[in-house]
Amino acid sequence: MPENTPKTLFIASDHGGYPLKESLKNSLSKQYNLHDLGTDSEASVDYPELAHALADKVVATPDASGILICGTGIGMSITANRHRDIRAALVHNKFTAQMAKEHNNANIIVLGGRVLEPTMALELVKIWMSCKYEGGRHQQRLDLIDRRNRNSNRNIAAPLSEVDPEISQLIRQETEREESKLIMIASENCVSQAILDAHGSVMTNKYAEGYPGKRYYGGCQFVDQAEQLAIDRAISLFGADHANVQPLSGSGANMAVYLSVLKVGDTILGMNLAHGGHLTHGSPVSFSGQLYHSVFYGVDPETEKLDYDTIEEIALREQPRMIVAGASSYSRTLDFPRFREIADKVGAMLMVDIAHIAGLIVAGAHPSPIPYADFVTTTTHKTLRGPRGGMILCRQKYAASIDKTIFPGMQGGPLMHTIAAKAVAFKEAMSEEFKEVQKQTVINAAFLANQLQEKGLRIVSGGTDNHLFLIDLTNLPVNGKGAEEALDNAGITANKNGIPFDPRNPADPSGIRIGTPIASTRGMREAEMKIVADCIEKVLKNPEDGNISKEVRTTIRELCARFPVYSHLL
Ligand SMILES: *Cc1c(COP(=O)(O)O)cnc(C)c1O
Repeated sequence: MPENTPKTLFIASDHGGYPLKESLKNSLSKQYNLHDLGTDSEASVDYPELAHALADKVVATPDASGILICGTGIGMSITANRHRDIRAALVHNKFTAQMAKEHNNANIIVLGGRVLEPTMALELVKIWMSCKYEGGRHQQRLDLIDRRNRNSNRNIAAPLSEVDPEISQLIRQETEREESKLIMIASENCVSQAILDAHGSVMTNKYAEGYPGKRYYGGCQFVDQAEQLAIDRAISLFGADHANVQPLSGSGANMAVYLSVLKVGDTILGMNLAHGGHLTHGSPVSFSGQLYHSVFYGVDPETEKLDYDTIEEIALREQPRMIVAGASSYSRTLDFPRFREIADKVGAMLMVDIAHIAGLIVAGAHPSPIPYADFVTTTTHKTLRGPRGGMILCRQKYAASIDKTIFPGMQGGPLMHTIAAKAVAFKEAMSEEFKEVQKQTVINAAFLANQLQEKGLRIVSGGTDNHLFLIDLTNLPVNGKGAEEALDNAGITANKNGIPFDPRNPADPSGIRIGTPIASTRGMREAEMKIVADCIEKVLKNPEDGNISKEVRTTIRELCARFPVYSHLL
């Protein structure tokens, strides 16, 4: 930097440091490019907010320095030093001010507003700003402050932001998107920092083909314990006989069940994709419809709910080997005892796919299929709020064949970092807090659906018993694709979805699917769902109106800011 351009200096204080800050400002602004970040009065404020704001500025601005002042300077220095690349020095006299720069290269000086006289404080700032960092042996020590630098292999220890700024930036943008928008995609959720930590761990390095205690690789003592914890927790969470936590996805879990007990060409009876079923329940575009003879049940055209007598008729006619219950966009409680009854009448096995509702089941907010089903499959990332992945629960008599089908039948080495994160998710799911969130998820969905109905929108089947519902857009000035876009522009992310007997095609169907898992995880309740209902109504009734879109975006941004989830990552 040329000698004659004034150095950039940020200054901030809390109320205890406010008088000293004001008195320093006059003289410092003549000599430096000074930016005051507050506070603006002696009204009480929280010093960490100001310290974080100033530290962020100093890190982000090349060659910048900062001054922080609170009553003693202690709280400000503790906070600022939490930031990587910040060296904040609390100084009391000329010698410490000089050393702070010469030896420690402090980029922030911290002063006690109730400790120092203004003239002394000014002198300390001037000494610190005019001294020069000596480098040399001091640099080696500064480097060691960051624990990564103790690693002799700097390439391995370097942070993502240095190794791959493009991906680092994209992750930051995705974090901002998830933080500032209201995600109402029914199949998504937001995991805890604990789960992110487990998922981002060195367990990704470990090959562990096989199962705990019976691996084809050495060095599995710790991943064995992690997988056993995941298994034991899953079994106790759902009351199952057996759990396999290795499936890479929900689709893979379903495939493993079919491969373990069906022969190619066997008949499976599943829910029609167009009525809310899943691709893997026999759709012709999926392996499930290609390997097996698949037949379907759907919802009743009048009630838009499952009619179990009709399902029984179809089963009696088609004599399936396997009946599949479960759905991706069906908003009503599933009657598992009735499914079992139908399966028994035709001698079929029953698989229940609880991918969407697993979290609700754990909390008792939806009945459990475990007593009725031969197999229960699930994803771990939907309402269950774990890492992306799948799981199979089954009766003991199927345990060995399920395990053999997953490995070596279908998969190679399991994702041990994901399995560790699944274990964390299952532990979280045992908590009262988790159960409360699940119950509120159902309350929020019902409340929101009801609000929208009162505004004249049509909800498929007239409401919801679970975490999701479908809005029929037929009488609104927008179709599924346009609704998805208009809502996302306004800060609400949901997905276009077919409705039962949809006359339109799946690329631009007549419905939009709304889910409340993330809103509920963030802590939103009925009062917030009321605001969301207003927003959804405005956007869907005026999809082309840019002013409404902007206004709703602001409302949603403010709402999300009141219920932070990843603010600590930004
Ligand atoms: C989401 C879902 C799946 C598939 O999960 P993936 O992990 O995406 O493969 C399976 N079944 C149902 C009912 C689902 O909703």
